[in-house]
Amino acid sequence: MSSEIIEKIQALKQQRNAVILAHNYQPGEIQDIADYTGDSLGLSVQAAQTDADVIVFCGVLFMAETAAILSPEKTVLLPEIEAGCPMADMITAQQLKELKDEHPDALVICYVNSTAEVKALSDYCCTSGNALEPVQTLPKDREIIFVPDKNLGGFIIEQTGIEMILWPGYCSTHVRMQPEDVQAARAKYPDAKLLAHPECNPDVRVLADELLSTGGMLKFAKTSDMNEFIIATENGIIHSLKKQNPEKQFYSVTEKAICPNMKKISLEKVAWALEDMQYQITVPEPICTEARRSLDRMLAVIPK
Ligand code: SF4
Repeated sequence: MSSEIIEKIQALKQQRNAVILAHNYQPGEIQDIADYTGDSLGLSVQAAQTDADVIVFCGVLFMAETAAILSPEKTVLLPEIEAGCPMADMITAQQLKELKDEHPDALVICYVNSTAEVKALSDYCCTSGNALEPVQTLPKDREIIFVPDKNLGGFIIEQTGIEMILWPGYCSTHVRMQPEDVQAARAKYPDAKLLAHPECNPDVRVLADELLSTGGMLKFAKTSDMNEFIIATENGIIHSLKKQNPEKQFYSVTEKAICPNMKKISLEKVAWALEDMQYQITVPEPICTEARRSLDRMLAVIPK
């Protein structure tokens, strides 16, 4: 059955001149049919550079919005309109405006996991793959507001020593990982290196050997001499890690690390998206142009 759907997707993809982008947290079968799989930073670069007419974005709404902002002349499809990100919805444009009013001289950095409206009100955007770069280039005498993830913001403060005003948002999937889960996994796999995502709570971050974005984890696993890794991020990444490193072992820190929104995309929904050209994601002006400014600044500082 699934091979029939895959054939259908391939045929429709050609017919529509479409490219399929999938986030590292997508179900394995979606990652397998994607033209490009990556983290938010890599996917943003792909969305900005592709010459396809249609981008099928297998991820959540803010990612498809980002693709629509970076490629406004293309048709961007999100196969499941209900695939949102609770963290992105933890701050509204109105709340950010009020915070800016309280700190009129502050510069604003938003995590890419934010709505287009919030990006439009921000000076810089960042992903977990390049979170340290923007803050290090900002003038030292200006206050910095970081939204919406208090955990990624806390990680940036720990790494750079630069204070920021943090919005109290968080990823509801990453905060499910607890120090006890890490300790249990460490006891079970004593030779494994622990790679954790900066969206984890501080009591988990402090137990990690490395704090990395998903793109960073893939690079690290490939180049490391180690053969065993405990992974503290959404479990979808384990599919790519195993595929790219068949000789190495990867263990999830907990089976609870599943983002229900990321798992709303299925092969059937990708086929329907291409067939019916749904759900088209667009970002109206002037939000699109204003949000693009903060994204362009992010893309200008891509770490090698
Ligand atoms: S894993 Fe967390 S940050 Fe990513 S889409 Fe799911 S809820 Fe949002």
